[in-house]
Amino acid sequence: MMDRQPDLFTAYPALAAQIPWVSLTSGPTRVHRLTGLAGALGASDLWIKRDDETSPLYGGNKPRKLEFLLGDARARGLDAVLTFGGLGSNHALATAVHGARAGLRSELVLLLQPVTGHVRRNLLSLHNTGAQLRFAPTKLHAVVMAASAELSSRLRRRKPPYRIAPGGSSPVGTLGYVSAALELARQVRDGDLPQPGAVFVALGSNGTMAGLVAGMRLAGMDTKIIGVQVSDILRLSPRTVSRLANRTIGLLARVSVELAIDSISPADVTMVDGYLGNGYGHPTDEARHAVELMHRHEGIELEETYTGKTLAAMIDHVEAERPTAPVLFWNTYSSSRPHLPPDADYRDLPQAFHRFFENSDDGAA
Ligand SMILES: *Cc1c(COP(=O)(O)O)cnc(C)c1O
Repeated sequence: MMDRQPDLFTAYPALAAQIPWVSLTSGPTRVHRLTGLAGALGASDLWIKRDDETSPLYGGNKPRKLEFLLGDARARGLDAVLTFGGLGSNHALATAVHGARAGLRSELVLLLQPVTGHVRRNLLSLHNTGAQLRFAPTKLHAVVMAASAELSSRLRRRKPPYRIAPGGSSPVGTLGYVSAALELARQVRDGDLPQPGAVFVALGSNGTMAGLVAGMRLAGMDTKIIGVQVSDILRLSPRTVSRLANRTIGLLARVSVELAIDSISPADVTMVDGYLGNGYGHPTDEARHAVELMHRHEGIELEETYTGKTLAAMIDHVEAERPTAPVLFWNTYSSSRPHLPPDADYRDLPQAFHRFFENSDDGAA
């Protein structure tokens, strides 16, 4: 499992001994041209970074963050992690799946949200990972449940679980996308793609975008990172992105002065906010159209919550601006639904789950 290292350590070898990391992804992700989509849009040069392929077990952007987060938990000698998400959260499921591989138990506090087919599938998968689940009707319940999980460890004289921020977007988790930016910079140097003028990426809990902004600065690349707001659950603004980017750079600078760079100001952060529709997870016509176009012209699967809204913003950008520099779509799509036996049935779940499945016509599927 430790046969490779992240670009952060290749670029700054001194960090390898000082920053914990576990290998969960299958190595650098591919970049390639989107010839079909570019043709359909009359655009000059479109590219994609395939972070949907970070892991065959559970891909997307979360594994890159978890490589640093779970590494940190293990280095502290802990045997469990605690995190938060919506009922159908990709972050919660990715934590449970990859946590189990890294030998860490997962305790998950799940905030109730509208129960769709996607939510039910994630719940069945979650149950099959063996993670301990708590269902929170409100954010306040979630805070109390997390505190009580920590207290109950202490009462049993066990170390409390390692707390992972929602979306994995702490400075430690954000290192995953600093490293991803360095990976892209290396692919540019290696001639795998031309240097993009702009990169479009989903902005959900700041971490992915903040890491890319910080990493591009470290790499000395002036590629513009454009974050497309896809959530209204956490506060998202140029200021929240630059603050997380600077805290992450601060973490690196404490380890090695070589990494002390100028701080990032909110004016350096480009955020697009017209594609959220009625809120997180709410469908929009633009996102549905974007998902459909990508499928028809490239055979690549996206979804409407994150990647569809992001691509919709990129399509409008290339149609309105006609950029001559290459534009890259950073695909964070969480591929594969692990741990779901083909005959999975909610009636096998503990009673606490049944309310999420009753009165549904897609109960098991
Ligand atoms: C979590 C997630 C995002 C958002 O990334 P953040 O780092 O939370 O901003 C984007 N796309 C997909 C598919 C995700 O699951």
